[in-house]
Amino acid sequence: MTSVSEIVARFEQFAPQSWAEEGDPVGLQIGSMQQSVHKLMVTLDVRPEVVTEAVKNNVDFIFAHHPALFRPIKKFDLTNPQNKMYAELIKHNITVYAAHTNLDNANGGMNDWLASLLDLQDTEILLSQHEDSLFKLAVFVPKKSAETVRNALTDAGAGTIGEYQDCSYTISGTGRFTPQAASNPTIGNLLEPTEVAEDKIEVVFPKRICSKILKVMRVVHPYEEPVFDLFAVQGNGTKYGMGRIGDLKSSMTISAFAEYCKTKFDVLHLRVVTADTTQKVKRVAILGGSGGQFYTDALRKKADVYITGDISYHTGHDIIVSGLTAIDPGHHIEQICKPHLQNLFAQWNNEYGWQIKVVQSAINTDPFMFI
Ligand SMILES: [Zn+2]
Repeated sequence: MTSVSEIVARFEQFAPQSWAEEGDPVGLQIGSMQQSVHKLMVTLDVRPEVVTEAVKNNVDFIFAHHPALFRPIKKFDLTNPQNKMYAELIKHNITVYAAHTNLDNANGGMNDWLASLLDLQDTEILLSQHEDSLFKLAVFVPKKSAETVRNALTDAGAGTIGEYQDCSYTISGTGRFTPQAASNPTIGNLLEPTEVAEDKIEVVFPKRICSKILKVMRVVHPYEEPVFDLFAVQGNGTKYGMGRIGDLKSSMTISAFAEYCKTKFDVLHLRVVTADTTQKVKRVAILGGSGGQFYTDALRKKADVYITGDISYHTGHDIIVSGLTAIDPGHHIEQICKPHLQNLFAQWNNEYGWQIKVVQSAINTDPFMFI
């Protein structure tokens, strides 16, 4: 039986929780990581109607983009519809997990999905780029145990560099020690100086999985006192960040581009902030969610147009005066995450033999309509 924790562990290799913006309440929202999963439902939002849908469809795990618990509950009064929704989830043993800004920041995540929907070319990260901190472990292992230790480390997630897995380096040498009276040596005898042919195995891994790697190393290492060095490594960590910028294959006027966005995002209307709709656009910046405040990053990166949701009135004024054009197709375009997440989970389902059903919520959670 597949547990929430197994599914989440795989997902967090793709979009680690540590990649979320500060203060973003990502991760387990309600329920238990130990829960067995038969049916997983992906959704943009967790709303009362989505929970009703989940209950009706016997879903036991809701995987959402927007956290269900944004504001702390002060009183669990069930006349409050939000609290009633939490109570329904608990009553029906439905676990809820949210991947928010860690999914936005992930390579191949939300912002890449939006950029590729618009067919942007040569995309790069729009906002300041972060880099995963790397550690390197060098561990000294008797030769006959080297393969076991090496495999355990790479199975635990060490040794991934870009598109290469199972990366490690070995040099051979001699280890020396004298087991003391209270020791329990795997090799050698008490109080006798001992020499052992050893391999020094080196692997790199993201800092965030350091405790797991050290734990695995201690479990598989044959020695009572494994000897190892642990270093912080500069550079070469995975780069990640918010928003994308890239070029359209050919330029078009702002009016034509707005029509193009309506079709691509499947929206009836969108808001355009511009001084002149006949201007041509080619370089497009996009940031899923509420990104009005980041228009300066789009300007800095020489975008012709900036697409984001929830642009406010005053930010609109600032954008016009800056000479930039902005398009606000609404926050709900992030619903694009539903098919993409469904595909990812379906792919892992096959790969790991989870035997779970993966479905999308069919509910439109956009609070706005146009009349
Ligand atoms: Zn959002």
